[in-house]
Amino acid sequence: MKIKGIKIKLHFSTLLIVALVGFYSATFYSSLIPDASIWELILVGVINGIIIIFSILIHELSHSLMALRYGLKVSEIELNLFGGVSKMEEEPKTPKSEFKISIVGPLSSFILGALLLIFLFLPIPLPAFVLVILFYSGITNIGLGIFNLLPAFPMDGGRVLRSFLWSRKKDLLSATKVASKVGIFFSYSLVVLGFIQWIFLGDFGGMWLILMGFILSSAARRSYYQTKSEVKLSNIIVRDILAQKFVLPYELPLIDAIKYYFMAFNQYYFPVVDAGEFVGILHLDDIKQIPIEKQTEFIVGDIAKKISEFPIVFDEESGKDVMKILTQMDKKPNIAVVKERYDQNIIGFIDETELINALKL
Ligand SMILES: [Zn+2]
Repeated sequence: MKIKGIKIKLHFSTLLIVALVGFYSATFYSSLIPDASIWELILVGVINGIIIIFSILIHELSHSLMALRYGLKVSEIELNLFGGVSKMEEEPKTPKSEFKISIVGPLSSFILGALLLIFLFLPIPLPAFVLVILFYSGITNIGLGIFNLLPAFPMDGGRVLRSFLWSRKKDLLSATKVASKVGIFFSYSLVVLGFIQWIFLGDFGGMWLILMGFILSSAARRSYYQTKSEVKLSNIIVRDILAQKFVLPYELPLIDAIKYYFMAFNQYYFPVVDAGEFVGILHLDDIKQIPIEKQTEFIVGDIAKKISEFPIVFDEESGKDVMKILTQMDKKPNIAVVKERYDQNIIGFIDETELINALKL
């Protein structure tokens, strides 16, 4: 299913949320109305389970739609055991956009929760099970909003915190560092709380907090490194990290190219030159397509990919822009042709390994 170009993906573990919410809401119903029939319990459970999935979807959609408004690409929303994630292809560009994109999720949960709860106060006679469904799903939405507001980066509250720090210090990286530290602290607090609940109170639900805490702490670390690489990459200029490469003559027999170039040099691909001009790229994977006994029948030019099949980047573009172009290529190998902006000359070729190497420095 797609909404505004965003793919909605249901991970199979989503079913577990439906089951859990269904179970807990049915238990809640039977504690209020002890003589409820089994069918009523099933009805309450199933409807609450379905409502919670839609609630999470609405929460994530609000993030995604706000992100689209700020020109960020959102590829998909995945619903899973731990709620949902909106997969954005890049980070927000300003503190203000980050704040709005993050806060809109919990806000929409609060509004949805309030809308469900408001029915309880209207003078409309409703059957008991409908009242319980409205109450339970309303409270769940409020809880969803509050939980997401915990300042545990990269959760919504942590992002709100980062946007404040970012706008105050004007430095995304240091803001992310602080926000992830707070995030890690909160994640471990969840783990400790979980253990207390589990061991001292004998409540098995503590397992959830422990699991959630560990997942959040690794997410906080991952998000920090991701931001760090993005910031680093945006400070790198293609021209500065371009590596010298050996080239292959167009007419060279393939078998010689393998023997004297691919085996001799530490290069996965070679630009192909004909009459002093770059005409193609020969990658190791192209050679693998040719059965060994047929390798003698070809010259390099026969199997090299045409240069026009590769995207063009300019020498003064940032590493971040190039990484984006490379990761969005739908055909492998992910290599871009580097041209000089001024006279449009090809001055080299770049792939992800050069960017990754630059990150290590
Ligand atoms: Zn959210």
